[in-house]
Amino acid sequence: MIAAIRGTQDILPGVVERWQFVESTACRVFDQYGYAEIRTPIIEREELFAKGTGETTDIVQKEMYAFTDKGGERVTLRPEATPSIVRAFAEHSLEQAMAVPKLYLFGPMFRYERPQKGRYRQFHQLDVEVFGVEDASIDAEILDLAWTLVQELGIADAEMVVNSVGCPACRPAFAQALVAALGEDAARLCEDCQRRAVTNPLRIFDCKVAADQPIIDRLPHSVDYLCEPCRGHFDEVRRYLALYEIPYRLSHRLVRGLDYYRRTTFEVLARGLGAQNALVGGGRYDGLVKHLGGPDRAGIGFAAGIERLVLALPPRPEGTGARAEVFVAALGAPARQAAFVLVRELRRAGVSAQVEYEARSFKSQFKRADRLGAPLVFVLGDDEIARNEVTARDMAQGTQEAVARPQAVAYCLARRRR
Ligand code: AMP
Repeated sequence: MIAAIRGTQDILPGVVERWQFVESTACRVFDQYGYAEIRTPIIEREELFAKGTGETTDIVQKEMYAFTDKGGERVTLRPEATPSIVRAFAEHSLEQAMAVPKLYLFGPMFRYERPQKGRYRQFHQLDVEVFGVEDASIDAEILDLAWTLVQELGIADAEMVVNSVGCPACRPAFAQALVAALGEDAARLCEDCQRRAVTNPLRIFDCKVAADQPIIDRLPHSVDYLCEPCRGHFDEVRRYLALYEIPYRLSHRLVRGLDYYRRTTFEVLARGLGAQNALVGGGRYDGLVKHLGGPDRAGIGFAAGIERLVLALPPRPEGTGARAEVFVAALGAPARQAAFVLVRELRRAGVSAQVEYEARSFKSQFKRADRLGAPLVFVLGDDEIARNEVTARDMAQGTQEAVARPQAVAYCLARRRR
């Protein structure tokens, strides 16, 4: 047997229904908020993420599925969607084409990480991006959208966490303050943090190494170093959150791993999920569109991990794949032929109907109907054919009645309304 690749998974019937629920709920909510779907390639130039996600990020340094293709070009499976959507936005001048460039994308992402519960090498994201709006009202809409999505999915134990990481005007002072506050402690941090202290000190807040935590807890907070415009923007975002009655916690540790974040950063956590508990992560990234060669436009968005949303859903009865509203059981060649015609008629009338393909006994056909959870079985034998009828058997009651063949579909639809 050839097994699936480590860190990838098959989403099987019985579980896929939960994915469909997440995706259809997200589609509905995104549509209500006026977001349009975009689909971009899974494979892109490596350069797009080196530049967009950031050369110094773990994603680019350690986790990309990058390779040289047969034409000698460096390409990669996308590790996240934002740079791809930014590329598409600029490449197709979506600003002109759309009244408001508010976009969403569903799809697989690839990161070569150590697999564990809630962390995979192929995982799936719902991604939302808005371009060209600087006002804090759009930050509030994005946070509200993420929060509403989680609520609509029925995930009760969620928490919104918010921070502001400033902008290129005020961040250097904060980075300097971090390095100064670390002082001699810098040498006692883990290897990754020592590297971060030099390349990108803010990233130290991402550290999960237990021994580093007491040192990190003493570090200054980005919100205390915001310049006047950044402070005003953040205050306004918080006023909206209060207005919308969205509960949230300020977290100075929320700097997020990617290079492009500016001002607002946020996450939605699920308290029940254990170590990998971030359902949604996002923030503002003014400057990225220009950095990637597009027009100088603001940007803001979030990504939600579909696997984690599915894990956090409230328990529901799990099915085992397709079910049927009605099963048609038949015995004998003429009855079987009539059964296939009837099933087709039912399906075309919008009823989910199943039939036995191989010639089998009634007993085994009833067993199959049972496994499909069909509440109704139409039975067709020589007698029914002779009388131009079907026998309708109510599986829960164990009762049966004769139904004129031309009335069979109507009988099914009427039963639905009962
Ligand atoms: P990021 O793009 O790293 O900000 O992640 C955004 C969201 O994607 C996270 O909050 C998770 O829900 C999800 N996510 C990120 N990495 C993985 C992974 N390796 N496996 C599963 N979900 C992930």
